[in-house]
Amino acid sequence: MAVLVTGGAGYIGSHTVLWLKQAGEEVIVYDNLQKGHREAVLGDVFYRGDLHDEDQLDEIFSKHSIDAVIHFAANSLVGESVQDPLAYYENNVVGSYLLVRKMVERGVENIVFSSTAATYGEPLKVPIEEEDPTIPTNPYGETKLAIERMLKWADQAYGLKSVCLRYFNAAGADPEGQIGEDHTPETHLIPIVLQCALGQRESVSVFGEDYPTADGTCIRDYIHVMDLAQAHYLALEKLRATRVSGIYNLGNGTGFSVQEVIETCRRVTGEAIPAVVAPRRAGDPAVLIASSDKAMRELGWKPQYPDLETIVTHAWNWHKSRPQGYGK
Ligand code: UDP
Repeated sequence: MAVLVTGGAGYIGSHTVLWLKQAGEEVIVYDNLQKGHREAVLGDVFYRGDLHDEDQLDEIFSKHSIDAVIHFAANSLVGESVQDPLAYYENNVVGSYLLVRKMVERGVENIVFSSTAATYGEPLKVPIEEEDPTIPTNPYGETKLAIERMLKWADQAYGLKSVCLRYFNAAGADPEGQIGEDHTPETHLIPIVLQCALGQRESVSVFGEDYPTADGTCIRDYIHVMDLAQAHYLALEKLRATRVSGIYNLGNGTGFSVQEVIETCRRVTGEAIPAVVAPRRAGDPAVLIASSDKAMRELGWKPQYPDLETIVTHAWNWHKSRPQGYGK
């Protein structure tokens, strides 16, 4: 049986494909390459296409014996979602609806869904647990939550089983250095800081120094992308074995401030990396830290690279070896 991975050419998708391949799974990747990179997809079958292309989805489900879908394909930038919410409803909600409808039609009953900590919004307490209130503060989180809820009802009505994985801050790269992170434009903290270390940017802007944290900068829970990949595989195995749906946080349970991340990058790269204070970025909660106890308990998940220095080292190895990213 094969696994269909939508968005498998993206950052977390491509690392999950790598993990699945190493675990001996047959993997079919479907990606429109709007943001993803063909070169990031290692091995097996690749289709370029969009979730809105129902004929192509039909063809894929007809051609291959697919028993499960891992669904990454989505737009995922908070700021962009605030500026163009309808695009996020179209691509994320409508795209997922079309995929899920096709799965139900075709009798494919397992889906692992790429969700996000943005479903919680401003947390009332940390570490955040799965039962905590979900009050998204931007359309990105709102669309992901809408899809989670659609999956819940689809389970009840049609027996479609789902695992929704709420990631905190994905970072790092394949430790072997074959693939890594490459976004255009880049908005994430660690790659931006490493671009400074490479001399591609003059400085990093620190978005806000007046948060109620020890050094005044935002605190986030950084999780290695290969640890996320591992979790997707475990979720898939659990769905196949137990046919029980669930929602899980994925983070290390440790928070690092923006300043601490920059200092870690300075240590790893040996570069000065100038930082300048800038205004707060709209919609940024002060502190986001996950409790991942449930994933550890129920999925048997154990992050292999919990240490920030290791995460940054793997990211740095990738950026040094491919300073212009993929295909450039
Ligand atoms: N950040 C920053 N400067 C940047 C990019 C990000 O200070 O150039 C901060 C951002 O405000 C947040 C943290 O770094 O507090 C992580 O941001 P990122 O965009 O990497 O991930 P997010 O938390 O938005 O998922």
